Amino acid sequence: MNIKELYQEIILEHGKNPRNLRKTENFNKEAIGKNPLCGDNVHIFLKLDENKKVEDISFEGSGCAISMASASIMTDLIKGKEEIEVKEIVNDFLGMIKENPDLKSKNLKEDEKTKLMCLSGVKQYPMRVKCATLSWHTLISAIDNTQEEINTEPDHHAPDHPPQRCAEADHRRPLRPLAPPRDQDVLAAERGRRGLR
Ligand code: ZN
Repeated sequence: MNIKELYQEIILEHGKNPRNLRKTENFNKEAIGKNPLCGDNVHIFLKLDENKKVEDISFEGSGCAISMASASIMTDLIKGKEEIEVKEIVNDFLGMIKENPDLKSKNLKEDEKTKLMCLSGVKQYPMRVKCATLSWHTLISAIDNTQEEINTEPDHHAPDHPPQRCAEADHRRPLRPLAPPRDQDVLAAERGRRGLR
């Protein structure tokens, strides 16, 4: 088995059986993240103890195998680490996914680095980078208590006009009885077509 196959195997395994897919009891930090382009969503629950050490971390959500595997691997290796270490690991991971050839963090053991390097294959696919980094950005939002929902596509997000409402309206339209066009409507349509309106 070559390294690519090994990486693929680990991702598939985590995607199929995500670790920590549950809600932490008595969590004291949380954040929500969304990647509308792929339909990934994640809700991170974090419990830091009095020494700012991660006592527990879990997530709920759904999405593609990459996003689920990434959240699963992340929660797995963040547990038990101190907040300051967590931030350093997140930065290291995001740096690796974006440009660095490997991980530099001294807070990661070799086997933990291998697990994170599994996700390095997404580098050449910008869309997949969003899937892989969603839970990591969401984790930072939870730690910093920004109360801000992470959205990989903030510009596409129009709260007054959610896409499903449009789709629903379109869907409902044919169910209404269609009134026969009145002369005025026909004339208006005619005018519109000729660009007079
Ligand atoms: Zn995805």
